[in-house]
Amino acid sequence: MSIHTVPVAGRVVVDMEIPANAPWSFVIRKGQTLRIIDSHGQQAVDTLFYSADDYQERYSGQDTLRAQGSAYVSTGTRIMSNEARVMLRVTADTCGLHDTSAGACSCESNTVRFGHGTKYLHACRENFLIEAAKHGMSKRDIVPNLNFFMNVPIDPSGNFTVVDGVSKPGDYVEMVAEMDVLCLISNCPQINNPCNGFFPTPIQVMIFEAQED
Ligand SMILES: [Zn+2]
Repeated sequence: MSIHTVPVAGRVVVDMEIPANAPWSFVIRKGQTLRIIDSHGQQAVDTLFYSADDYQERYSGQDTLRAQGSAYVSTGTRIMSNEARVMLRVTADTCGLHDTSAGACSCESNTVRFGHGTKYLHACRENFLIEAAKHGMSKRDIVPNLNFFMNVPIDPSGNFTVVDGVSKPGDYVEMVAEMDVLCLISNCPQINNPCNGFFPTPIQVMIFEAQED
């Protein structure tokens, strides 16, 4: 676990709240820094990245984990594409533990995990589909995602579980874009799973202009 708590300084391009349960998307230009703030703590932030120039190039959890030789995302992680190019680099992280193995919740998986009575509940996969549609994408474009602030311990035999989130109110993660990227976020609506403390809350996103050294 690597924790770095010095935030980037620079002109703020975007500063907005994503309501509990809601989707969001935005293009982050090369050199800009994205900060995702878990305003209230214990909120899972399901995230996907696409090359803004070609959506066929998109986030690859497999390449990201292989590139760094670790199961979790934190400071120093190079967020890789399916073409093995660096999309973003994680430059600050006050939480220290972000998952990219457990995927996003869906109505179908909720039914399997929590019972048929949850079938009607809103899920991250729907958020992703709604937001992806704004950019001309569909089901086939939704790939395994990053889960910022989601706590997924992996045991030595490779089994994992989703347990209580460890992020505190105000915890944040920052990443600098190495290419122009479209970022899709589903602020997870999960109420059956301890990853959100059983109560989804708003998050804050900020984008900072590239810093001049
Ligand atoms: Zn979810």
